[in-house]
Amino acid sequence: MNCTLLSAGAAQEVTGSKHLLEIDRTTVMVDCGAFQGKRDESYRKNSSFPFDPKLLDAVVLTHAHYDHCGLLPRLVSQGYRNSIYSTHATRDLANLVLLDSAHLQSRDCDYLHKQKRHNNSLVTYEPLYDEKEVRTCLDHFMTVAYHRPFFLAKGVNAMLFDAGHILGSSMALVDINRDGRHLQIGFSGDMGRNDLPIIRDPEMLPPVDYLVLESTYGNRLHAPLDTTMDTLADIINRTVEQGGKIIIPAFAIERTQELVFCIHLLHDQGRIPSLPIYVDSPMAVNATTIFKLHEECYDDETREAFLEHHENPFGFNDLHYCVSKQQSQALNMITDPAIIIASSGMCEAGRILHHLMHCIGDERNTILIVGYMAEHTLGRKILEKWETVPIFGRHFPLKAEVAVLNSFSGHADYNEITDYVRRLDTTNLKKIFLVHGEQKAQENLRGLLTGMGHVVEIVEAGVRYELAS
Ligand SMILES: [Zn+2]
Repeated sequence: MNCTLLSAGAAQEVTGSKHLLEIDRTTVMVDCGAFQGKRDESYRKNSSFPFDPKLLDAVVLTHAHYDHCGLLPRLVSQGYRNSIYSTHATRDLANLVLLDSAHLQSRDCDYLHKQKRHNNSLVTYEPLYDEKEVRTCLDHFMTVAYHRPFFLAKGVNAMLFDAGHILGSSMALVDINRDGRHLQIGFSGDMGRNDLPIIRDPEMLPPVDYLVLESTYGNRLHAPLDTTMDTLADIINRTVEQGGKIIIPAFAIERTQELVFCIHLLHDQGRIPSLPIYVDSPMAVNATTIFKLHEECYDDETREAFLEHHENPFGFNDLHYCVSKQQSQALNMITDPAIIIASSGMCEAGRILHHLMHCIGDERNTILIVGYMAEHTLGRKILEKWETVPIFGRHFPLKAEVAVLNSFSGHADYNEITDYVRRLDTTNLKKIFLVHGEQKAQENLRGLLTGMGHVVEIVEAGVRYELAS
C-alpha cells in the first residue's frame, strides 16, 4: 500500500482547505474550501482544481465554514460524482453558507461587469456556481453522527469527533486497512476551544499515526473568556457615552449567536445600559433556526441552563433581526447608540460593508473585531488601522475606534493546541503536519511541538508527503 498526503489549499495560508489522501488508486479529500483574499488571486485559485474532481472517491467535510466547504458545488459541477460526508448540523449549515455564497457571487459579478464596462477592463468574473448547482451539490451529502464509523472506499473508513469550533464541527479520523497494513490519520479540521458558549469542548482523537493539525493561532494567545466580558462591557459603555454605534463584523454562524448571548448576559447583569441590538443578517436568522434544531451538539451547561427548563437558548430580549433590505437600510438612519452585528466576518462582502461605509469615518463609533482577519481582506486593513480603507471602490478615512476581542475566536491558541497534543495518546504518532496557518504562526507552533519531542512538517501546497505505516 502506498499512501500520500497532498494539500491543495490552506498550506502556509489559512483559507481554501483541501487535503487529499491518496491511497494507491483511491483518493479521499478532507474539506473543499474556497480561497479568500485578493479578488484576482481568489478567483484564479477558486476557478479550477489542481486535480481531477472525477477521480475523487470520497469527500469528508469537517465543518460548514466557507473556507472549508465553499468549493463543494464547483467540485460537483466539475465532475465529482460520489458522496460528501459530514455531521447533520454541518450539512444544514453548509446549505446556508453555500446558498448565501451563490447569491453574493451573482451580485458581485453584476457589479464587476458594470465596473468593467466603465473601466474597459479586460478581466471577466463569472460566479463559481449558482443556486441550482448548490442544490445539486447538497444531493451528494451523506450525514453521520459523531462516533459512527462510515465507509469511504475499500479498506478506508472514517469517523467524526467533535472539534468544538462551530455547531456540528468535527475532526476526522481516517482509518486505512489494506494489504495487512494499518494507518490512522487524524485531521483536526479547525480546532475549537474549551468553554465556548453553546457547543462542546474539542474531543480527543484516538491514537493516530499522523496528525494533520491546524495552526491559525500558532503564535497567539487569547484572553480568557471572563476578561472578555469585562472588555466587551467597557467597549459598549465607552461608545454609548460618546453617543456612538458599535459595529461588529461577525460570521453569521456561531460568532453572532455567541456575541448576542454575551451582550444579553451583560445587559441582564446591569453592566451595560439598555440599547438596541441589531443582527443585520438574514443568514444569522436562518443559522439560529438551525442552532435550535441541533440540540445534539449542545454542551452540558447549555442543556442544563435551558433545555431542562424548556427554555429557548436563543430567545434573547432587546434583539432585532433585520431580514429585509429596507430594515437593513433603516439602520443607517439611527442616530442613537446601538449595536449592529452584520456579516461577513472578514468584511469582504455583505451588509457589513454598508454599515462600515456609514460609520467608519465617525470617531464616536467603534468597530469591534471579534474574529480572524485573513491577509488582504478589508477586515485585516481595519484591524491594522490603515488611515483610509477601500469600501465599494472608494477610500474612506478610518476615524472610528478599532477594538479587538480575540477570545471570541473559535480557534485554539498555541497553548490550547499544544495542550491538546500533550493529552493525545501519541504512542503511534510519527509526524504532525501543520496546515491552515500563516508563516510566523506555523514556525512558532513547529518550535513548540518539536520541543515536545514530535516530528513536525509545515505542509507546502502541491507537495506529496509519504505516509508510512
Ligand atoms: Zn472554521
